[in-house]
Amino acid sequence: MSKKYIATPSRTKEILNKYKFSFKKSLGQNFLVDVNVLENIIKHAGIDEEAGAIEIGPGMGALTEQLAIHSDKVVAFEIDQRLLPILKDTLHDYSNVEIIHQDILEADVEAVIRTHFKPNQPIHVVANLPYYITTPILMKLVRDRLPVTSLTVMIQKEVAERMAAKPNSKSYGSLTIAVQYYTEAKVVMTVPKSVFMPQPNVDSSILQLVIRDKPPVEVVDEDFFFELVQASFAQRRKTLRNNLSNFFKEQYTKDEITAILESTGIDGSRRGESLDMEEFALLANTFYKSK
Ligand code: SAM
Repeated sequence: MSKKYIATPSRTKEILNKYKFSFKKSLGQNFLVDVNVLENIIKHAGIDEEAGAIEIGPGMGALTEQLAIHSDKVVAFEIDQRLLPILKDTLHDYSNVEIIHQDILEADVEAVIRTHFKPNQPIHVVANLPYYITTPILMKLVRDRLPVTSLTVMIQKEVAERMAAKPNSKSYGSLTIAVQYYTEAKVVMTVPKSVFMPQPNVDSSILQLVIRDKPPVEVVDEDFFFELVQASFAQRRKTLRNNLSNFFKEQYTKDEITAILESTGIDGSRRGESLDMEEFALLANTFYKSK
């Protein structure tokens, strides 16, 4: 039975030949050809027959087909016009799929959710993302505070590790804080290159992001908080005091920085990578109030 699915090497090759399709590397086109991996993605996404699914980059429909089978409705954004007739063909048995020809970075996803799904329907974003824009896509989706429950995505392994990292690890950085401020992040599976056609140069992981009801810390000014976090990691090997002195060089002397740091109880000789989100929030709020 599974032989018939789009996500098999033989069926994918058949479609490629039928349409004389050539992959565009610049659009991150690495298609999935393994149904087991897709079933894993869907399981971790929490998809069931009540759920709505939003997909980014359906390609030839490998994941879209599985989402159509397991969910109530799928809306997929695809940038490459050449794939539209192909998707029409490969997904013609599924009446619960809608393809939108648009760059996801330009889409008003909230309006699409409002107009394409039932009110209060649980919505999950599920995708094998184009790797060249993984971070901009995920940051757009989480920052827009969309009414979605979770995002489960196949991305570059190294990026997944950074997003799900814990303090005091090599992968921990400003991207970790940016993602974990909005979501609970977990790497659920690492996937071999052999499940893609063509095979990418990098290893991949499935990352699960569950949207938080509210951020885990209270910050007075979000933009300032994220700027301070970024500044704390500007030069990873430098101490917090040095990175912050550099960031605030127009506003404060080194002694003033030391005094503000002391008032928080956070040792300025630590490195950014040792601070957890609560400590960053305390630092940002203290610096913000002393402006
Ligand atoms: N979902 C398919 C699969 O798993 O076989 C294809 C995944 S492939 C890694 C990424 C897909 O995203 C491609 O179909 C590509 O054309 C599409 N894509 C690339 N950039 C995009 C963008 N900015 N907006 C929407 N789709 C995009």
